[in-house]
Amino acid sequence: MGCTANGVAEALRAVADVISEHRDELVELDRAIGDADHGENMKRGFTAVVSSLDSQVPAEPAAVLKLAATTLISKVGGAAGPLYGTGFLRASAKIGAAEVPDVVAALKAALEGVQARGKAVEQDKTMVDALLPAVAAAEKAAETEGADIAAVLTAAADAAASGAESTVDLVARKGRASYLGERSAGHMDPGARSTALILRALAEAAR
Ligand code: ADP
Ligand code: MG
Ligand code: MG
Repeated sequence: MGCTANGVAEALRAVADVISEHRDELVELDRAIGDADHGENMKRGFTAVVSSLDSQVPAEPAAVLKLAATTLISKVGGAAGPLYGTGFLRASAKIGAAEVPDVVAALKAALEGVQARGKAVEQDKTMVDALLPAVAAAEKAAETEGADIAAVLTAAADAAASGAESTVDLVARKGRASYLGERSAGHMDPGARSTALILRALAEAAR
């Protein structure tokens, strides 16, 4: 079974809660290899998404994701705002009735959008290192007979968590952390961590 616009809106509220809970952690990760604002940027953005949804939940899943995209673009700022905004915008174009194949297509489109916008590839130590394995895992999980949205998103969230862990050893080649060169190694990328948190919240909301 697919997911309604209200279901997508509830999932985004769950994301906002998780991002708020992890605000300080994301700030500390960004303090080590960036400018210590990722947690605040993301909290501000998702708090604004919830405010938008409080005034009105659009009628279709696509419109809910598009509202999230435009809100994130205008409120998050920094590198992550346009990247997450583009990801949610591309996802909205593919979410359709939010059946399992739509969810997989939306995740894939989000990855393509982030990569089109930021030009990061695997192992550049960015959110792509969480999102790329998440998409692969979602595609694989969706092939399993009877897989539902929760199963697909749980596989994506597990892979994103491992992907985020894998950024610890990497040297950043994109974004602010790349200015540190070799000194960026030894710290998890904040954007990879926030991507893993977002996917975990979506998976939990789908259960
Ligand atoms: P800023 O670096 O402008 O302060 P944030 O701290 O909010 O912005 O976001 C930083 C995160 O953005 C990084 O941890 C990384 O995951 C992500 N990022 C930065 N540049 C890129 C890029 N070119 N492609 C993908 N992700 C990127
Ligand atoms: Mg920052
Ligand atoms: Mg900044």
